[in-house]
Amino acid sequence: MSSLRLLLDAVLDFLYPRIDCVCCGKRLEKSALQGICGNCMEYMPFIRDPKCSLCGKPIFEENSAEEHSEPSGKQICTECRFHVHNYDQALAVFEYSITIKELIHRYKYDGEYGLSRTFGFFMSELLKKSGWDIHMIIPVPLHKNRLKSRGFNQAALLSDYLSQRSGIPSAEDVLIRCVDTKTQTGFNRYQRAENLKNAFTVVNPPAVKGRNILLIDDVHTTGATVDSCSRVLHQAGAGKVYVITIASVLSE
Ligand SMILES: [Zn+2]
Ligand SMILES: [Zn+2]
Repeated sequence: MSSLRLLLDAVLDFLYPRIDCVCCGKRLEKSALQGICGNCMEYMPFIRDPKCSLCGKPIFEENSAEEHSEPSGKQICTECRFHVHNYDQALAVFEYSITIKELIHRYKYDGEYGLSRTFGFFMSELLKKSGWDIHMIIPVPLHKNRLKSRGFNQAALLSDYLSQRSGIPSAEDVLIRCVDTKTQTGFNRYQRAENLKNAFTVVNPPAVKGRNILLIDDVHTTGATVDSCSRVLHQAGAGKVYVITIASVLSE
């Protein structure tokens, strides 16, 4: 991690000493790393089992019929049975509910960088339980124009946090976004995939060769963004590519 990041972390410590619940503002013990009080925790839309063993989205009762189970006993959602992903496996902490949407908005656009700790805490818990053997953490990159206007990459802060907690190195200079893509909002699955075609490049292939990668992003919608990243990582010789996001949009 760069010294600039360490400085930013110290500043975050000063500005956000983790004493208020991020949802209701209730005063918390300093040791409450997750930054959410016990009462609000009960209402957080955590994604629970059963979930799809590929995309990590929840599988609901009516979808969990026998034919959706693989011979291995793993359950695959309807989406994943018809659309192949380029990543090996994905997980998300929360369903993309109104509450989570607001929290992510505050994090990305309202300068509440301290929320990276709440999100990062739950993402690292998910990583611990995953059993994945990861060699390198890579945040989904922003195009340099976007980075300039937003001022920070929301996925890079989360990657740093996960790196600190897990001891796995994170690398921001390996994968870049070379095309300044249009916003994806309102696009369907095919438009998203088309929009992101060739948007990413691995600038340092030897760094990923034979390595298992963990990609970090904020929201998993159709998976087009992480699929596009995974495709170029695999082309560059990466081993497995896993994904953890803060939230996942449930399919209708
Ligand atoms: Zn609360
Ligand atoms: Zn799935």
